Amino acid sequence: MSLKLPATHIEPPPADEHEVQDESSSDEDDDQAWDDWVSDSLEKRPCKSLFEDKTFDSVQEALAYDETTHGFSLKDISSRLSLDLYRRIRLINWIRKEHPSPSEAVALTGSEEFFSSDEYLKPAIEDDPLLQIAPDDSSDSEDEAELEKQEAPKDITSATRRIAALQRKLQQAKQDLVYYRRFVSERLNLAGLADELKNLDVSPTTHAAVPLRDDDSHYFQSYAENDIHSVMIQDKVRTATYAKFILSNPDVFRDAVVMDVGCGTGILSLFAAKAGAKRVFAIDASDIAEKATQIVKDNDLDNIITVIRGKVEDIKLPEGYDHVDIIVSEWMGYALLYESMLDSVLNARDRFLKPDSGVMAPSQCKMMFALCEASELFKERIGFWSDIYGFDLSAMGKDVYDEAIVDVVGSETVMSEPVVVKDLYLGNITAKQLDFSSPFTLVSTAERKTKIHAFVLYFDTFFTHTGEPIPEDTDVYIARDGDPILAEVWPVGGRPHQPRRMSTGEPLKGKGRPKVTSFSTGPASVPTHWKQTVFFLREPIMAGEGTVVEGIFKLRKSNDNSRELDVEIHYRVQDPEAPSTSNEVTVQCYKVR
Ligand code: SAH
Repeated sequence: MSLKLPATHIEPPPADEHEVQDESSSDEDDDQAWDDWVSDSLEKRPCKSLFEDKTFDSVQEALAYDETTHGFSLKDISSRLSLDLYRRIRLINWIRKEHPSPSEAVALTGSEEFFSSDEYLKPAIEDDPLLQIAPDDSSDSEDEAELEKQEAPKDITSATRRIAALQRKLQQAKQDLVYYRRFVSERLNLAGLADELKNLDVSPTTHAAVPLRDDDSHYFQSYAENDIHSVMIQDKVRTATYAKFILSNPDVFRDAVVMDVGCGTGILSLFAAKAGAKRVFAIDASDIAEKATQIVKDNDLDNIITVIRGKVEDIKLPEGYDHVDIIVSEWMGYALLYESMLDSVLNARDRFLKPDSGVMAPSQCKMMFALCEASELFKERIGFWSDIYGFDLSAMGKDVYDEAIVDVVGSETVMSEPVVVKDLYLGNITAKQLDFSSPFTLVSTAERKTKIHAFVLYFDTFFTHTGEPIPEDTDVYIARDGDPILAEVWPVGGRPHQPRRMSTGEPLKGKGRPKVTSFSTGPASVPTHWKQTVFFLREPIMAGEGTVVEGIFKLRKSNDNSRELDVEIHYRVQDPEAPSTSNEVTVQCYKVR
């Protein structure tokens, strides 16, 4: 979806969004939409704009002004964020107290702290009529009445009204289903329940009665396959960096109790055992755990590594173990957060990591964001459809704008310095903070006018031997072709590992600085299996040197599947050579799945 703000003209809402109440006048349809929204008694009270010191004769006029002038529709945001009465009141008071810009207000995700703060229940201005309207209060009961009518609609207007009521019901039912799914999977932990049923040896008919679809089943199933582990293990940048960190820090791992969250084949546990760990708990909820058990035995490390099959959220450590010294995990997904496995790792941290001295490995990840010319990828994914044996099949390329594309872009295609849109310090970040909005300013480095087709996102990963945050000025280590680390540390099928101290890539810059090991999934590095995540723009940006693209990057777990992501990018382009040109904000929404 792509929409442009601010609108200079508000499109009348489509017929299915409101009831047509006045059969005689189609001109009044737009106003009738507002009638659903603002109750009559409040309509005529003076009301202030949300963004300016201007007062209007009615709520309706104030809201319409904010929408036409500032592109902010209270009705749209209330429905997009499914705001209940209290959250909407907080939103209104927050805008009135904190004076955000309209684009900041449009960019809200619903997860901002003020939505749950009591402070914003207090009216920012006395007797604010905006706080007293209850949107759609009436429409529910009117819909019920409409749907209870037995007779067939007598004319086109009543048919339209009936359809509109049905569509609202359907929308509500869909929304309820999403909540219901989430509720059921959260409360019942269906994956765990399925395992319990297996243990109870209940009959197949009982199995069939249990709804097994949840966001986990398919997920863990995909990790049962060999191929996915083979791809990860052969990703040299990834595996060699973990090996390097673990094997070159015997002081950290010697005699430590380690937890490997999501052990897969058990590779990180094997490294930890080799580095001198006293005990390693290797946890995985997928069938791969059985392979890991076998692998641990085959390598004579079953006296040190214990594989525990189950979701880390559900497992208990064996008698005598409450806490671990180190949690090592390779949880990163496309665009870093796809798969949402980090939530599980943070859960493990909170339950099992020694509170003060515990080390998270990795300890930090940064999400990086930049302008990307991406013309080759554009041709490959979109452009080529426009001329197929002389026919225009470009309709086929349209969906690409709604989905993030995972692919490798060359470093020469990056047209700005990257900015950090999220800095995740694993020591204290919370699962809630993984839904976020982040402002960005990108300055084009294109030497001549260039068509920028996309934004590119990637992540850098850091390990510190103490688990503390990296110093601000730490550069990530960029793996290059022919890099000895990739060849030597990781001899697939080769000679046994020679324990030795390896270069950390990042020289230690002074006493007291933590020892840092890192890798990048960015375009400058040897490609990893994460590649880069590309967000194509419906309308490319024409950028020359110094063109500024500023905006807001928003990411949150998808409502439909908590392992998928919804990304929204709001941006505005400022050309230094024509500073007065359009200040239009463009918004594009993407799924990462
Ligand atoms: N550590 C391995 C595998 C990484 S892939 C390696 O580096 O090669 C991630 C693994 O985590 C998968 O095998 C998946 O099944 C497991 N996993 C993901 N979420 C989990 C959870 N909540 N509990 C247990 N295992 C989980």
